[in-house]
Amino acid sequence: MTQQPYSKPLPTPQPESDFYWEKTKEHELWLRSCNDCNQAYFYPRDICPICFSRDTTWVQASGKGTLHTFAIVHRAPTPAFRDDAPFVVAIVDLEEGPRMPTNLVEVEPDPSAIHVGMPVEVVFEDVTEEITLPKFKPAG
Ligand SMILES: [Zn+2]
Repeated sequence: MTQQPYSKPLPTPQPESDFYWEKTKEHELWLRSCNDCNQAYFYPRDICPICFSRDTTWVQASGKGTLHTFAIVHRAPTPAFRDDAPFVVAIVDLEEGPRMPTNLVEVEPDPSAIHVGMPVEVVFEDVTEEITLPKFKPAG
């Protein structure tokens, strides 16, 4: 099998999130957390989106969460996703609080196999040399 170049969208590097992507490369999930209102948030940015404090820090997430909602995609949005369909897009409520858009993997893309509220855990997909994407699977 020949290696195809990765043709799906990739994140654009930004100073605020470089650390996040360095850590996913090490298969760790990190969040930003606010020292003023004590809430973790996603996506990573310097200013707390809840209270607008600039006093924020990085915290390592447990990688555990519950499925908030999901959709099964049968028709690929672009040709790059054609071989993936059907696949599951999902919103996961992380244990630390933030809600994160992701994919649910390692599960049948079938509504009888997936339910809202199911426990999930992070897995990491090394998609390029530079980028590793966090995805979630049913917690084992
Ligand atoms: Zn805050």
